[in-house]
Amino acid sequence: MSIAAQAEALSEWYSAHYQDRRLPWRGDNEPSHRVAMVEGLLAQTRAPAVAALYDHVFDGVTFNTAWLNLDPNEREMRVAPLGLPHLKVNAVNSIAQALQDMQERPLGIEAETAVERLEAYPGIGPYTAGMLALLFGEGAAPVDGNVQRVGSRVDGDAERWIAELVNAALQLESKTGRPPAYEVVCAVLDVGASRCHLRESECAHCPLRRWCATVQTDGYSMCLPLASRPQAACFAVASYRFGGIHAWPLQPEDASRQYLGTPHRHEFHVEVGVAVRHDDREIEILDLKKRVRGFVVGRFGEHADSPSDRDLGGTSCEHLAAYMLKRLGEVYGDRPRWCRVLEDGENGATTYWSM
Ligand code: SF4
Repeated sequence: MSIAAQAEALSEWYSAHYQDRRLPWRGDNEPSHRVAMVEGLLAQTRAPAVAALYDHVFDGVTFNTAWLNLDPNEREMRVAPLGLPHLKVNAVNSIAQALQDMQERPLGIEAETAVERLEAYPGIGPYTAGMLALLFGEGAAPVDGNVQRVGSRVDGDAERWIAELVNAALQLESKTGRPPAYEVVCAVLDVGASRCHLRESECAHCPLRRWCATVQTDGYSMCLPLASRPQAACFAVASYRFGGIHAWPLQPEDASRQYLGTPHRHEFHVEVGVAVRHDDREIEILDLKKRVRGFVVGRFGEHADSPSDRDLGGTSCEHLAAYMLKRLGEVYGDRPRWCRVLEDGENGATTYWSM
């Protein structure tokens, strides 16, 4: 399975590179409570900035209780250089209290996941809860900008990809002493920080290169400057032409346009595109063509009097293009897609949908 192979490759790569970024919480003997508490500082703050202040913030703090025993003003002063000290202290406090709670009321006794319990604490958002759940050995799919960029380039759908990757990683052996799914997600974060840049990525040194949809099979990297949402590099395209009769019942008073109000015939050229996740027939274009025809038949049927002409009533090119986009969404979900409808191959409308 490709996703299992990706998880294994990331795990192996992480075991060789986990200290490259010199993040102090990656130290082999780093106390697990500090590794958890630092997640409260990492939300919305770049890792190198946190790394530079790590020893100062956690000076003398090995366990969560030591953090909670610090004077509240002292806690704020320690994290102040990172900005938003009140919010960050709240987050670290919550993690420290959650660690206490986990000892007194271990996970698994009640029907709740680590993410569900952690998100109930003030200051712990979905991303931080996800990272902590991974540290506790559970499955979770935290998504930040790096995960979004790497996942959308490798697969097109970052949220689904990271969830499947974590599931696969849960079956692996730990390489550095931390839970294997945590290691694999950290590897993705590292790929995002050190290989998969917004521009000019270092694909030749990326452990995901073999599976990455953004890398062409001939080795040429397309590495699009994706911002935060998936964008399509390639669309499967299909077309369908049919004769149809329509009219514009609400045509304007303008005498020169009044002929549009009476039924008239065109050959409608319908062309659609659906984003694909890889460039080797992920969507077979003949299947797509059948769907396009099926959508037209589903709306207008086969014309009773003529084998080719259909009665479109008051449907405009814009209406038809919007209808096709909606029907494509029912089959292909949130993928970027477009539809162009031209009367007699000349003039018409295009609709486009992207996240
Ligand atoms: S192969 Fe290139 S584009 Fe794909 S994830 Fe790696 S660095 Fe990013």
